[in-house]
Amino acid sequence: MVDLVLEAPARGKPPQHLLDMSRSERRDAMAELGLPAFRADQVSTHLFVHLQDDPDTWTDINATDRTTLRSVLPTLLDPIRTVACDDGTTVKSLFRLHDGSLVESVLMRYPDRVTMCISSQAGCGMNCPFCATGQAGLTRNLSTAEIVDQVLAGARALAAGEVPGGPGRVSNVVFMGMGEPLANYRNVVGALHRLVDPPLEGLGMSARGITVSTVGLVPRIRQLADEGMPVTLAVSLHAPDDHLRDTLVPINNRWKVSEVLDATWFYVEQTGRRASIEYALIKDINDQRWRAELLGEMLAGHLVHVNLIPLNPTPGSKWTASTPQAEREFVAALREAGVPVTVRDTRGREIDGACGQLAALEA
Ligand code: SAH
Repeated sequence: MVDLVLEAPARGKPPQHLLDMSRSERRDAMAELGLPAFRADQVSTHLFVHLQDDPDTWTDINATDRTTLRSVLPTLLDPIRTVACDDGTTVKSLFRLHDGSLVESVLMRYPDRVTMCISSQAGCGMNCPFCATGQAGLTRNLSTAEIVDQVLAGARALAAGEVPGGPGRVSNVVFMGMGEPLANYRNVVGALHRLVDPPLEGLGMSARGITVSTVGLVPRIRQLADEGMPVTLAVSLHAPDDHLRDTLVPINNRWKVSEVLDATWFYVEQTGRRASIEYALIKDINDQRWRAELLGEMLAGHLVHVNLIPLNPTPGSKWTASTPQAEREFVAALREAGVPVTVRDTRGREIDGACGQLAALEA
């Protein structure tokens, strides 16, 4: 029997933060603190527009009110390690949360965009055997504010010119750090709202720049399709057949490949967004030509794109990445089937960029 954790343990609940709340909830919070409602929008301007999270710099708010506000602006992420590579344009951060849990985020600057890869849970309960995060199990869900603050931390560093290439903005966010985002549905949807809702309500990012990656929690995929936020859905398939996927992505024992793909096509239909199929190429495990052909058959004709990821072996793993030859053949078979495919670049590999590796080292 596989041991899957769909419900996170309740311990370690993080302190309430204004980033957990919608604009109207932030106004209500002001009333509870005995502050005028307009303070909420002033704070939102500092957080989302000026990207300034230190109340001491908020000179449009008097010192007494700034002190009062601190009770709903607790420090959520304590940066305990930062590592950079690619001439400083890839920056991985390890944060300690209020209860000692560790989470990671990665900022990747490209000539035309900045992508942040963020975590939705401390640890993960999905138990995929090739993933570093999966090995340690689930600690807890992140709060909405803990998720959003990872993006804001990167946005602040960029705005302050701390990343080579001059001041910049975060254009893309991918939920491909630690955790299964759809197993922390409520807080992730809250975070999506904070990211895409227009300024003062939220950060005003484009939904098309945001990708939610999932092992395939079928009912949650369908629910997300109806949230009215057309973010990109990425599905971690890794095998086209149930026999193999049952072991590579153990939740497949609950929802089969055909059910996951049906939900994916429903998502595509509802949102009009092209879906992404994630497929980590593992030498002699899932990289055979027949599997590429089967995958091509299943995907052909749909609004979908395959993202092949050369396996980043976790410490002690018996598996390695496919050979360049096998990778080329896999790509060719998908192209022959008429399915668009790219091979993901492997940024940050030398800084343990793969899912969960920095936290695993620290722990
Ligand atoms: N739980 C979500 C998101 C986090 S992982 C999900 O599974 O989709 C983001 C992606 O990285 C997933 O496709 C995951 O399968 C993949 N991944 C995890 N460990 C990997 C490794 N060692 N090498 C390559 N890809 C990996």
